[in-house]
Amino acid sequence: MHHDSPVPPLRMARVRAILHELDIDALLFLDMKNVRYLTGFTGSDGALVIGEKQEILLVDGRYTNQARKEVEGPRVFEYKEKIDGIVAILSDGSLRSVGFESQAMNVNTHLKLTEKLGALKLNPMSDQIGALRAVKDEKEIAYIRRAAEISCEALTAVRDLIKPGVRETDIAIELDFRMRRCGAEQVSFPTIVASGANSAQPHAQPGSRAIENGDIVIIDYGAVYCGYHSDETCTFAVGVKDKKQEEAYSLVKTAHDRALEAVKAGIPCVEIDRIARDCIETGKLGKYFTHGTGHGVGLDVHEAPRIASNSEMVLEAGMVLTVEPAVYIPDLWGVRIEDMILVKEDGCEVLTKVSKDFTVLH
Ligand code: ZN
Ligand code: ZN
Repeated sequence: MHHDSPVPPLRMARVRAILHELDIDALLFLDMKNVRYLTGFTGSDGALVIGEKQEILLVDGRYTNQARKEVEGPRVFEYKEKIDGIVAILSDGSLRSVGFESQAMNVNTHLKLTEKLGALKLNPMSDQIGALRAVKDEKEIAYIRRAAEISCEALTAVRDLIKPGVRETDIAIELDFRMRRCGAEQVSFPTIVASGANSAQPHAQPGSRAIENGDIVIIDYGAVYCGYHSDETCTFAVGVKDKKQEEAYSLVKTAHDRALEAVKAGIPCVEIDRIARDCIETGKLGKYFTHGTGHGVGLDVHEAPRIASNSEMVLEAGMVLTVEPAVYIPDLWGVRIEDMILVKEDGCEVLTKVSKDFTVLH
C-alpha cells in the first residue's frame, strides 16, 4: 500500500465549515473513500467522527496498527462491534445533532443507531458531503495524471489484439494485465470490451464473442494509482470503413470537442451537458444518447460533480471529470468517446492521452 504524506489540514477545515453552516455538532463518516480523504487511512472498514474539537477514527482490531501508522491528526479508537463503537463515541454527552452521509448508511445501521442514540438527532446529508472531494489538489491531480498515463500505455500495448477472431474477454484480460504491469494497483472498474451489437449496450460485459470485420469495438477502462482512478473510452472500427459508423463517430466527436471547448471554471455542469446533447440532437441521433455527459473522477470512479441535465454544481478549477457523449443504435452498434479532463480557470487539460480520431484497425 502506498504511504501518503499528511492529509492537508484544509480538508478538515472544510468539514468544520459544514458543521457551522448546518449548525450541527459533528459529522459521522462511513464512506471509506471519505474517511481516506479526510484522514489518510486506507483500510476497508471503519468510521470517522469529526466534531468541533474532536477527530476520532474508529476501526476494529484488524486495522488498529495500520490506522496508527497512517493517520496523524485523529485519535484512533478500537471497537469490537462497529455500531456499539459509534454509539460510544457519539454518546459522550456533548453532542445534540450529528450529520451523516445519506448514501453511505444503510437502513439497518440507521435503525440501530437511532434506537441506541436516544435523544441525539441524526441528520442525513448528501450534497455538501459529495462536493467535499470535487476540487483536487496538486497531489491528487498528479495521482490521477499517472493513472491516466498507465492506462494509455496499457491500451497502446494491446491495440494490435483488436482484430477479427479475437474474443472480447481476451482483450479485456490482456488490458487488465498490462495496466497492472504498468503500475496500476488495480483496475478502476471491470473493463468493458464490447464488439458488434454488444457495443450498443452502454455497460456491456466482455463475453466470448469474437471480433468480426466491420465491427465497432468500444473499450472503456481505467487504472487506479495511489487510490485515484482514471476513466477513458475509445471506440474503434475494425477492418472496413462503414459510412454510417463514421458519420455517427464524427457527430459524437464533435459533441465531445464542443463540450471540451466550453469547459472552464464558472460554467454550470448543466451547460456542458446541454452543449454535448444539442450537438447530437442536431445530428438527429439525440434519442440514442441515453446517459449523462460525464462525471467527476477521483478516489471513486464516479463522484461529484455530475455532468447531467439536472446537475446543480458549477465547474471550478481543479475539478477532474469525464466528458463522454455517445450514441447507441439498438442491436447494431454504438459509439462512445470519453476523455478525462482537468478543469482550469480558462479552459481544460485533457488527461487521457489515447487519440480520439476515428480509427479503423486492421
Ligand atoms: Zn468510462
Ligand atoms: Zn465515465
